[in-house]
Amino acid sequence: MNIYNLTRDEMEEYFVSHGSKKFHADQLFSWLYEKRISSISEITDIKKEMLDQLSRDFSFSKLKLVQVERDKDVCKYLFELFDGEHIEAVLMKHDYGNSVCVSSQVGCNMGCKFCESGRRKKVRNLEAWEMVTQLLMIEEDLKDRVSHVVVMGIGEPFDNYDNLLKFFSIINHSKGLAIGARHITVSTCGIVPKILEFSNFPLQINLAISLHAPNDTLRNKIMPINKAYPLKELMKALEIYLKKTNRRITFEYILLNGINDTEDCALELAHLVGHLNCYVNLIPYNETNNLEFKRSNTVQIMKFYDILKKNRVAVTIRREFGGKISAACGQLRSKKEEL
Ligand code: SAH
Repeated sequence: MNIYNLTRDEMEEYFVSHGSKKFHADQLFSWLYEKRISSISEITDIKKEMLDQLSRDFSFSKLKLVQVERDKDVCKYLFELFDGEHIEAVLMKHDYGNSVCVSSQVGCNMGCKFCESGRRKKVRNLEAWEMVTQLLMIEEDLKDRVSHVVVMGIGEPFDNYDNLLKFFSIINHSKGLAIGARHITVSTCGIVPKILEFSNFPLQINLAISLHAPNDTLRNKIMPINKAYPLKELMKALEIYLKKTNRRITFEYILLNGINDTEDCALELAHLVGHLNCYVNLIPYNETNNLEFKRSNTVQIMKFYDILKKNRVAVTIRREFGGKISAACGQLRSKKEEL
């Protein structure tokens, strides 16, 4: 077991179950997340026997950073896991802070046709500590705080739900990385039962839905998950989520040339989401070497945008990061593995 897997409550339980004091949990959290120790021997305020026990029960190791690609306002990190697998995380420097896009699985089973990450089937879920230490290691490299987190790297986070919630709890805790829930976003391709479950999660984390098509015929073609959870069910779940949480959701919509970027699609999309408390984030597609999809041209993107605007849908166009250093969506890892 890795120490970065433990929530603060689990740490308390651990100390109590070893006849020790609850407050050690706060101390240990502070050593791990404020003082950033690299070895257990640096801890000075917990008794030696307890430290010995800790070092028998837990590993304090992080990931292995194997490659960083840097551009002006974006860095891409490639990490090796203990079993030799690779995952990636991307740091984006915004004027409002440093945002990191983390991976949640090795590979992905969702099979979205346009997505590079899904070309490799899921090998395994990432444990909470493997997500937490992506952030710790990036902060170490950056020598600055990460202020925003998006779970939009490799993997489907709602297919790794329990570890994801642990991750949120650890990074959000005031003695942990203290990243505010409103600064955390999770993106899902639309796993309906988990969306419903997530509506009961107490932290005010932002939810983004990868929609990418305004009707079942088209969505079935590009996102196989739609066959399990078609749009009617998805929309119903989102209505319940919105009612329960009083939050706003984001719809992500990649514009794929000639596929989902027509004026009819824009109108259909406006009708589909227009009644919800949401906004639509239009994403210029990052073309990859391996797949047949092309990005829509700027004129088409602006037309699509205007139609949504005219129909009173809140809409933004995603700023692009990292295209140059293949930091977009699973490309670095797949480059590495094809070498
Ligand atoms: N599985 C989750 C999170 C990971 S993907 C999900 O589906 O939301 C994060 C986002 O990147 C998704 O909206 C996904 O559809 C999008 N994406 C995948 N490949 C892309 C590409 N080549 N260009 C632009 N966006 C892409």
